[in-house]
Amino acid sequence: MSPASTNIFTLTHGSNLPDLLESNQKWSSKTTEEHPALFRDYNANGQAPHTLFIGCSDSRYNENCLGVIPGEAFTWKTIANVVRQDDLTCRATLEFAINVLKVNKVVVCGHTDCGGINTCLQHKRASLEGGENNHLFQYLQDLDDLYHEHKADVFAATDDVKTQSRLLSKLNVERQVSKLLAIDTVKSALARGEIQVYGLLYDVATGFVEQVSETTA
Ligand SMILES: [Zn+2]
Repeated sequence: MSPASTNIFTLTHGSNLPDLLESNQKWSSKTTEEHPALFRDYNANGQAPHTLFIGCSDSRYNENCLGVIPGEAFTWKTIANVVRQDDLTCRATLEFAINVLKVNKVVVCGHTDCGGINTCLQHKRASLEGGENNHLFQYLQDLDDLYHEHKADVFAATDDVKTQSRLLSKLNVERQVSKLLAIDTVKSALARGEIQVYGLLYDVATGFVEQVSETTA
């Protein structure tokens, strides 16, 4: 990544708590200017999000890539948007969003240039084993499996590492969506026609989202 000559970001590593609080004041004022009724008439009185957004923890995107404002999307971000049957956070999030909040869209939105994907693609995962990043090593097992299952196709398709990474990100969205569809909470809501499940890929270089999959009852 080439360092920008001018910092365009709001806060930096050098920012401290007063900076964060001041920045929050500005954000709140600006948001109220744009949407005068948002906090007072909507967010203050509860939430009724239409979408559960599952994305990677990556700092470069979140549900805002869909143009939504606070109150529209219930969000769960986790490294490389990995979905697991035995992950309590995953299961609780699905139950709350689908059964309690009654969202009618569940989105798994992966992204290009994903660190988790690249670690496996570039064979850097093994270096994490046993050290201070051992949990990360364990967590990335699923992506390593994905890589090994598809590496012949990925390398046959292109020599370009960025394109390989993009392809794996897309395959990862498909993989996580299929795991999501096997979870009871999702399966039941889909069968009842209460939700639709979309697989998306966000491009960090353009801000655009493309469709990977769509599942309806
Ligand atoms: Zn990522």
